[in-house]
Order: sequence, then structure tokens, then C-alpha cells
Amino acid sequence: MTEYKPENFPFYIMFESVTFDEDYHHEFKGHRSISVEELPPSCHRPNPSKQHFSSKVSFVSRQSRQCVSKALNAFLNTGDGGCVYLGITDDGIVRGIQLTDFQQHHIELNVVDLMTRYSPPVPSDRIKIRFVPVITKAITNVTAYLEKLKQNRIEHEFNMKPHIMRTYDMCWCDYDADIRMSHNKILAPYVVEIQVLKFEVPPVTVETIGYDYLKYFYPIYESEEDNCHFRREASVNNFSKQEIYAISMDETETFCSKIINKLLKEKKQLQEENNTKMIL
Ligand SMILES: [Zn+2]
Repeated sequence: MTEYKPENFPFYIMFESVTFDEDYHHEFKGHRSISVEELPPSCHRPNPSKQHFSSKVSFVSRQSRQCVSKALNAFLNTGDGGCVYLGITDDGIVRGIQLTDFQQHHIELNVVDLMTRYSPPVPSDRIKIRFVPVITKAITNVTAYLEKLKQNRIEHEFNMKPHIMRTYDMCWCDYDADIRMSHNKILAPYVVEIQVLKFEVPPVTVETIGYDYLKYFYPIYESEEDNCHFRREASVNNFSKQEIYAISMDETETFCSKIINKLLKEKKQLQEENNTKMIL
């Protein structure tokens, strides 16, 4: 079993199982289709329930592959955060995704672009992306391999060509990767960890009641498909406006009870102090 490695020396081992399952905080993906537009048409399966009633088959209502956006949206909307792992399949096996530095940059920009398309846009400090190398059994000196990966990184700040996003068509960086592989260059595999950070609620004080109280509630984000997803255990659910209203009411009630309890406690203390003074 692969252990979750320390921050300074992280790596996964190819074809091993990870020590955690898909759950409320973890989502595995064997692909890198970030937004809905990046799902290839072959991923849209016919819907069997519609085939029964019509000779025309619906290719849009059931997808064999879910884009990464749904999981990210759900982690944001539940407020507790979570991580999507690209390159780990549903069975928890590390398979990695072979990526050039250009393709890594593409994924980073892709996620940034997606977050600007949510409503409201997601602040950049809520998302962190990490490319964790995958080690194959053929690699005997892991430290040397990781060092070499670091040294070989290409600086792409001054990259001339813009990456092509919001489509399932290949970008120039994908063609570039194909050319490298056709010249027998082996591309390093990675697990891409896209982490949604937990929404940090500031400490609640009585003094702040009535001022800027919205900062205590995490926003609900609409995805690029105008949907609001929520995480329930290992699944992603699309919630209706009524369900979101009910969640918001619950949270408002919890928040207000905290303030009310604090005020009642203060009132009791003041009464006790007053009673003591009266006796004296
Ligand atoms: Zn690209």
C-alpha cells in the first residue's frame, strides 16, 4: 500500500492502491477533462430509458465520464473542502497521467479559467494544484529520479502560445507531447491533486452582529453549467434551488443560535453580578 508521503517528498507508486477511499473529501479521476466542454462526444452514452420510447437516442442525458468541475463545485459548496486526484481510477489504483511541463501549465490555467466561470467567481486562494510524480517499479533510485524531474522543468512564464481550453479538441501542448512520444521520449506520469480548501469561518463575536455578517457564510457557487453540486459521502448531487434554500436556512439558524446563546450567557452573568451587588 502507498502511504501518503510528507509534503517535502511526495510521490505515488504506479499500480498500487492508495490508503484512502473515495469519500466526502476524496474523488478519483482517471482523466483530465476539467470542464464540461472538455468531455469528448464518445463519453456521452445513450440513455436506455429513452431508447424504449423513441427511436432517437439521447446522447446527452447520461455521461459515462463526469468532468472534474462537478467534484470541485461540490467540494466548494459543502464548505468543508476536498481533493480531486487525476490519475487515480475509481478502484483506488494509481495509474498516473503522463504530462509534459506545458501540459501541466495547461491544467493549472484550465482550473483557474474554470473558477472564473463559476458564479460568483472563486477566489484563487481556495484552490491548490500539485503535480505529484508517480514512481514505477523500474526506477531504483527514487531520489535521483525526483531531483532530475525538478531540474528538467521548463520555465513557461513567457510561453508564446495561449493554451486552447473549453473544448475537447487537442491543444498545441498535447500535439507537442505526441511528437515527443513519437520520438521515443518517455513522459513522466503524475497524479494531479486539485485541492479545494475548507472555508474558514471567522470567530463569531457579538460585536459583529449586524455588520458584515455574510462573511460567516460560505458562498454557494453555480458551475459553468449553472448547476449547484453538493458532496454526499462519495457522490456528487445536483441540488435544486429549494434544497439550497433549506440548507441556507439551517446554516442561518445554527449561526444565529450561537449568537443567541452567547447573549443569554452574558445576560445571566450580568444578572448574577447585579444580584451579588444588591446583597452587598
Ligand atoms: Zn495546452
